[in-house]
Amino acid sequence: MVATPLQTSQSEEIFATAQKLMPGGVSSPVRAFKSVGGQPLVIDRVNGAYIWDVDGNQYIDYVGTWGPAICGHAHPDVINGLKEVIDKGTSFGAPCVLENVLAEMVIDAVPSIEMVRFVNSGTEACMSVLRLMRAFTQRDKVIKFQGCYHGHGDMFLVQAGSGVATLGLPDSPGVPKNVTSNTLTAPYNDLEAVKALFAENPDQIAGVILEPVVGNSGFIPPDAGFLEGLRLLTQENGALLAFDEVMTGFRISYGGAQEKFGVTPDLTTLGKVIGGGLPVGAYGGRKDIMSMVAPAGPMYQAGTLSGNPLAMTAGIKTLELLQKPGAYEQLDKMTKKLVEGLVSIAKENGHAAYGNSISAMFGLFFTNDAVHDYEGAKKSDLQKFARYHRGMLEQGIYLAPSQFEAGFTSLAHTDEDIDQTLEAARKVMANL
Ligand SMILES: *Cc1c(COP(=O)(O)O)cnc(C)c1O
Repeated sequence: MVATPLQTSQSEEIFATAQKLMPGGVSSPVRAFKSVGGQPLVIDRVNGAYIWDVDGNQYIDYVGTWGPAICGHAHPDVINGLKEVIDKGTSFGAPCVLENVLAEMVIDAVPSIEMVRFVNSGTEACMSVLRLMRAFTQRDKVIKFQGCYHGHGDMFLVQAGSGVATLGLPDSPGVPKNVTSNTLTAPYNDLEAVKALFAENPDQIAGVILEPVVGNSGFIPPDAGFLEGLRLLTQENGALLAFDEVMTGFRISYGGAQEKFGVTPDLTTLGKVIGGGLPVGAYGGRKDIMSMVAPAGPMYQAGTLSGNPLAMTAGIKTLELLQKPGAYEQLDKMTKKLVEGLVSIAKENGHAAYGNSISAMFGLFFTNDAVHDYEGAKKSDLQKFARYHRGMLEQGIYLAPSQFEAGFTSLAHTDEDIDQTLEAARKVMANL
């Protein structure tokens, strides 16, 4: 489905112009191909499990617009739903009944959520939940984990320098030190480190926020007991536990990682899947905490386009599709086949490889050791990953252009798509 060698002259021309108009030519840095070399493809259209670039090449897609496309791109139910509501207008700036519908679906699905507020992105959801944790506990400090991404809010842009991981140094120019000085960090899956932070900062920690299954340093699941341990530690210390399920919500299972692992946080952030491909985020949790949010309570947070009928519709239609019996079993089985196949093909060709998946989320690292945290993820052979990425692209397989991103499958991926992907991997891994 792609020409050999890959023809991308249209992409190159459009991207050259884009670079003059927008920083780096992209609207979000993850779309650049900086860590794998080459330049991004300019996409013309998407459908089901496939994307087409402007040169007409067709690829099997494992990025899924970074998470939302769990039912496949441009699902007819979603598109037709949008067509039905769009004639009534795109945004009301006033309550609409569709907000109730999606809110009820979210509250029914996610164990921790008794009340929910819709926003427009995962970043907004995480910034709001941080403010809420601080408002509720009247404490300022927060613990996050190395390699966990919670959007680009100042307080979350903290690089976890090894050894001085708790120092809270800003990750980006423009983030003042005093803004991140209340952000404490620990290695993922390290309960002892969290215990130590609580001991060093008695009665000062508002809460702990984490990706309950990490997708933003590659795919890293929680070790047995880690989530349970955090639940206990936060309770013992009068702090709140927030699961950032922007990526895992409605992906790891219908009720998210919290349902899958049976650990209920106080607060949860959502995004990606619940927007069905439109800009949506949400945060929710215990009713007593959510009652602090304006206008019910004093914690201010607002949004001009929040809860608009188009975004709500795309979310509702997507969740309806995910309610079909067997959806997650199908995703789990297919993704396992993919990852197990990739790992064994890598090993057959003499490459160190470690892979893992839950439901429709997976990762492949070029290292033999099981990956439990960001440090472990960084041991992957990044140059090899770059060659693998390029090779797969040339075989018509579209992977995230970074080792430190999870892969995503969808209900639209067929057995043949997986077979074709493994066939491509056989060719690529033989020449890495
Ligand atoms: C994508 C992501 C975010 C940020 O969401 P945006 O909609 O890109 O702002 C936050 N947290 C996690 C875990 C994410 O994967």
